[in-house]
Amino acid sequence: VHQSITDYISNTIRTIPDFPKKGIQFKDITTLLQDKRALELTSYMLAQPFRNRSVDFVVGLESRGFLFGTNLAQDLNAGFVPVRKPGKLPSKTLSEMYALEYGEDHVEIHQDAIFKGAKVIIHDDLIATGGTASAASKLIKRLGGEIVGYSFIIELSFLNGRDQLVQNVPIESIVIE
Ligand code: AMP
Repeated sequence: VHQSITDYISNTIRTIPDFPKKGIQFKDITTLLQDKRALELTSYMLAQPFRNRSVDFVVGLESRGFLFGTNLAQDLNAGFVPVRKPGKLPSKTLSEMYALEYGEDHVEIHQDAIFKGAKVIIHDDLIATGGTASAASKLIKRLGGEIVGYSFIIELSFLNGRDQLVQNVPIESIVIE
């Protein structure tokens, strides 16, 4: 039953070649969001692996990690915390750098966003190299949080992004390419 759900969701994701630059196969989830059945099924499938687990916060990564992040938090009876690009969060922040193909970027979290010992799930629409989710993991650890899982709609497994993440915690992706 889950396989046909996965296929349904997968078929609503559109691939745009050479966006935002040549050689990137961009996975566009706007077509998933438009489809009311895929929207509901994605939300169901994201929560499924973590049901009945104790979770304090879902940390969503800007910006497409916000789309399902709050909903996932509600489904898991957890709070939602945004990790954002530099300069977007208004209060005091912690910052982590991560490497891009050319150069570097940063992600930020509010210093008071999670309490010490909090159980945290990191969510984003897609994991590619794992750089973003890895930087977010460091922010959570600096605040004393415990990462208990990772949640993605799409995993580009050929980039081995999961090797960058905290080991020995579940990494749940609905569509694996
Ligand atoms: P990475 O840090 O390399 O794992 O990249 C993950 C972030 O970049 C996520 O926030 C994704 O939304 C975005 N991203 C990277 N590659 C793609 C892709 N091929 N299609 C859509 N989004 C992507």
